[in-house]
Amino acid sequence: MRLIAVSKYQPLESLQAAIAAGQRAFGENHVQEAVGKIKALSSVEGLEWHFIGSVQSNKTRLIAKHFDWLQSLCDLKHAKRLNESREGAALNVLIQVNIDREPTKSGVLEEDLQAFAEALLHYPNLCLRGLMCIPQPGSDAFSRMKTLYDQMIASGFAFDTLSMGMSQDYVDAIRAGSTMARVGTAIFGSR
Ligand SMILES: *Cc1c(COP(=O)(O)O)cnc(C)c1O
Repeated sequence: MRLIAVSKYQPLESLQAAIAAGQRAFGENHVQEAVGKIKALSSVEGLEWHFIGSVQSNKTRLIAKHFDWLQSLCDLKHAKRLNESREGAALNVLIQVNIDREPTKSGVLEEDLQAFAEALLHYPNLCLRGLMCIPQPGSDAFSRMKTLYDQMIASGFAFDTLSMGMSQDYVDAIRAGSTMARVGTAIFGSR
């Protein structure tokens, strides 16, 4: 189980306190804000930065340059751009799945997942690690995600990451098989 400390809107001092307590992986969802923090903390060894917000085409270059992980990939145009601008180690990516089929949320639909994942294998600078979701509260989405995740592995994908669970629901998510929780307010307090 990995814990991503979601530090969006939190001041640098809060991140420094978390680092002092041993935390190394941070999640951010605004590129500009995150890049400022990443630069300010660049002397700290071993930090891992996860982009968890919605991707905009004009931000793909900055994401490819500064982040270690992108958890919210759901557009092949973005994948192509990220692949083109990534240098060095491959960018770890998770496919965001719109597991509750919500019109207001982004994410790949279940029936499109296999084809989407196969298309990503053509991009050598992206390393597909698994799936991510932001479900509706109170749905059985976590267990449906776990089933999807297992099906993808059974069909040959080398997944090792199922990112689900936030402050309100990480216990349920972990029970259902999450390997990575993204927790903000339960660590840092309100934003
Ligand atoms: C903000 C955010 C979180 C953390 O939410 P909390 O409720 O503060 O734990 C997790 N995942 C994503 C994608 C987010 O945008």
